[in-house]
Amino acid sequence: MNALLAQSGLPRYDGLDPKTLGPDIDRLIAEAQAVLEAVVAPETPATWAAVMAPLTTATEALGRTWSAVHHMGGVMDSPDWRDLTNSKLEVVTAFWSHLAQDRRLFQKMKALASAADVLADPTRQQALSNSLRDFRLGGAELSAKDQDTFARQTARLAQLSQVFSEHLLDSTNASVVHVSDAEQLEGIPAHAVAAAAEEARRRELTGHVFTLQQPSLMPVLQFARHRPLREAIYRKHATRASEIAQEGPANDNTPIMGEILSLRQRQARLLGFESAAQMSLVSKMASTPDEVIGFLAALASKARPSAQADLADLRGFARETLGLETLEGWDIAYASEQLRQARYLFSEDEVRQYFPLPAVLDGLFGVVHTLFGVSIEAMSTDDPSPAWHPDVEAFLVKRGGESIGHLYLDLYSRSTKRGGAWMDDARGRRRLGQALQTPVALLTCNFSAPAPASGRPSTLTHDDVITLFHEFGHGLHHLLTQVDDLEVSGINGVEWDAVELPSQFMENFCWEWETLQAMTRHQETNAALPRDLFEKMKAAKNFQSGLFMLRQIEFSLFDIRIHSEIEATADQSPEEVGRDIDAILQSVRKEVAVIVPPAFNRFAQGFGHIFAGGYAAGYYSYKWAEVLSADAYAAFEEAGPTAYSDVGQRFLNEVLSRGGSRPALVSFESFRGRAPSIDPLLRHNGLAQAA
Ligand SMILES: [Zn+2]
Repeated sequence: MNALLAQSGLPRYDGLDPKTLGPDIDRLIAEAQAVLEAVVAPETPATWAAVMAPLTTATEALGRTWSAVHHMGGVMDSPDWRDLTNSKLEVVTAFWSHLAQDRRLFQKMKALASAADVLADPTRQQALSNSLRDFRLGGAELSAKDQDTFARQTARLAQLSQVFSEHLLDSTNASVVHVSDAEQLEGIPAHAVAAAAEEARRRELTGHVFTLQQPSLMPVLQFARHRPLREAIYRKHATRASEIAQEGPANDNTPIMGEILSLRQRQARLLGFESAAQMSLVSKMASTPDEVIGFLAALASKARPSAQADLADLRGFARETLGLETLEGWDIAYASEQLRQARYLFSEDEVRQYFPLPAVLDGLFGVVHTLFGVSIEAMSTDDPSPAWHPDVEAFLVKRGGESIGHLYLDLYSRSTKRGGAWMDDARGRRRLGQALQTPVALLTCNFSAPAPASGRPSTLTHDDVITLFHEFGHGLHHLLTQVDDLEVSGINGVEWDAVELPSQFMENFCWEWETLQAMTRHQETNAALPRDLFEKMKAAKNFQSGLFMLRQIEFSLFDIRIHSEIEATADQSPEEVGRDIDAILQSVRKEVAVIVPPAFNRFAQGFGHIFAGGYAAGYYSYKWAEVLSADAYAAFEEAGPTAYSDVGQRFLNEVLSRGGSRPALVSFESFRGRAPSIDPLLRHNGLAQAA
């Protein structure tokens, strides 16, 4: 426990025992609760030192311990960690939600705005304004009656999101495509055919059964030569959770979407916002729905010519090579895959030979050193290892000879680890009097482990390399902060649509010829990546990028427009609002899409990101952050590699080190000397128009 809560040095994970941590968590909650009571007491002066400092100390101890539990559950899954998580989830969640709704604390924080130790410090002003904003968004300023309504709406929304997901899942599982004629399987990869045979056996059927789950669906849509088979599975998939779903309307999400949207609009109006979109943007970098719509429209107008060219190209190929006179919804993925193979195929396995993990790490650390003057040194592994698994490596992060943080890399997949890649904040930077608490980042990936007994290191695909650079970018944002107040240091308090700036920024270096030369080393020949292979990889990267971008814009516009334009008045039924949602989808498609899906396609009924996830009026963030990161990287391109250190230093000073201590737009503009431009992203995607 104490080893986990240390302020410097390495937090030790080796001694964490899920069987004994439970009482510690209870104690930390009780302590935080006691501190809360003390800071809200009338006699406690409204100053940062008397309110925020002790409250942050208490909640940080709980937050850090709970995040370690969560981390261990994600990387060392076991019944004991699950038991601990499940047994404490409710009390921990309840503590945070009570804290966020404590009116006494809200009043105390409002009084903090005029405290001398806040007024003198812009960083603290920013942190305080974030907290007050979150209280207001949670309904803290409403009358008791309205608060009650707001709380009921919140609870109902949580329920509806759950129903939306369940409908979608049930509808996905409700239909299958049964193939009894083996000739229809032509083109489908063997692993997918074998899985379909297994699925049929499981259902006590002969032949093959394809489900609407991605791993079964995609191979059919991408590879099946038999067009009616593609059509059959496409139709079932495209009508899921709708009134025309294969299994009937029982799982129709249309009224659920309508009610969700109504409640979101009513909550926004209750808080004095014009729309749910406006409310969502209060905590984001974009300021108004019109700004987002304008941004998307500008991108769309630039991407459309390329998308049209992509489509014309695909049509021509489909006609001449595949004998498809028309290109239907169920032909797009198939024809695209055939075209990709015909034009851009290279062997992933061949590429992988050039990327042994030690060479990639050397390359990555080299880039970071060049850009930011930071050195990353492996810690001498003492005994017992401070980490949770023998595969994990600990590193010391140094700048100017000074230790500024620590990093754990846990890179190989194993059965006890959750899939994907992510960065966890294990400890954030904070100054406490004379003492400086240094940040610790945990990077988790799922790369293939080295073959046992081969004596050879693991090799990465180029996608793996990009993933590693991406997560490392999040890590740098967390580790290189210079902010002293935990509330806004590192990634804390950074606007939601700006969080991916440093991570996507780092990805760019994986596409630099010189950088790749330095970080590739064929495992047999030691040769660096050859130029022709590199060019093939780059061409494949931008394959159909116009179509892809336009599709992302279509989803984003749909999302922001339904949350800003549909009023959802009190006399409208959920079904009516559901129809309004559909009308906007059709209008967006007409406006931006070059591939208009068939009329029966019910995309919205399956759009979990915005109806059941956290992306409502925020789906545009993907593109928004890409624009920022591409434009930030363009500053390096413009200056050229010899000036990387200078530009890197400025990027560090103005963006990375600032965390959430000031608005992301201010940080970006201070670095770039102007507002963000969409042009570099278009250029990187091969979408820049010839002058
Ligand atoms: Zn990310």
